[in-house]
Amino acid sequence: MNKKAIALMSGGLDSTLAVRLLHDMGIEILGAHFTGPFCTCDRGNEGCMSYARIIAKELGIQFKIYSLGKEYMEIVANPPHGYGSGVNPCIDCRILLLKKAKELMDEEGASFIVTGDVVGQRPMSQLRKKIELIDRDSGLGGLILRPLSAKELPETIPEKEGIVDRTKLLGITGRRRKEQMDLAKKLDIGDYPCPAGGCLLTDKNFAARIRDLMAHEGLELATVPLLKIGRHYRLENGAKVVIGRNQAENEKLERMAKDADVLFIPEKVMGPSAILRAKDPESDQIELTATMLAAFCDGEGPVEVSYRQNSKQSTINVQHTSRDLYSSSRI
Ligand code: SF4
Repeated sequence: MNKKAIALMSGGLDSTLAVRLLHDMGIEILGAHFTGPFCTCDRGNEGCMSYARIIAKELGIQFKIYSLGKEYMEIVANPPHGYGSGVNPCIDCRILLLKKAKELMDEEGASFIVTGDVVGQRPMSQLRKKIELIDRDSGLGGLILRPLSAKELPETIPEKEGIVDRTKLLGITGRRRKEQMDLAKKLDIGDYPCPAGGCLLTDKNFAARIRDLMAHEGLELATVPLLKIGRHYRLENGAKVVIGRNQAENEKLERMAKDADVLFIPEKVMGPSAILRAKDPESDQIELTATMLAAFCDGEGPVEVSYRQNSKQSTINVQHTSRDLYSSSRI
């Protein structure tokens, strides 16, 4: 066993502290940041990825970014260890990340893996029993070092072999972050505003959209961006309607509309854009979608709506109705 480790770096404080502790002990670290389709940090240069990169640069360590795609979607659709409060497959998500880190460990000739996990901090993946399960099912038992909680966990192989000094590791547990904040102050580390609350899959409303998609269309990576914007409705016949909530979403909807979708835009009045996604969009579905869109337009009179279906542009006139009429089909 050598003094080289792969560290999972989320960009948040816990993983930063974990890396810093090991780095200060003279362990060579390669930081790995994994992004997925449901990350909440997609703020360009301000997201978690950038914070992780900054930290790696400050410490002078190697840093790599990996995008999780198809494999990740498979565990979201069918997680062997089940979901948390939303459709978050946290246990399988952690196992997948650790398996990816193991691949990197083998490629890079590293000996063990470092994470910022804190025992008891997150209910689904950081309870002691869950940590044991993750270690076992990732096939990495004894090779995952959690410096912030190490004294609360069984000794790992790098500790047993004297690669890492267990006396310098910590025994933090629980959801309070006071000890981490104190340590950050002592080590002169800024708290990076990376949310610690989990990804979009933990969000109740977003989870409802995922469940609906799995029930009606199947979960595909390409569909995820549409789930993140607009008001979503599932019509009785299985068709889906998405209506923009602001100018930025209207523009995104217009860009996201596939050839097979019907794209609606109101004429002469201010109002949102909408997409109808159906197997073979029929005239009653088109009329209903235009009417739903009109309910979000300014004014109270009839609304002229233009729509594009298979590159063919048409218009339809519909009455202004109450939005409440459609609330039962809202996802
Ligand atoms: S909250 Fe999301 S990203 Fe975090 S472990 Fe759970 S599934 Fe994975």
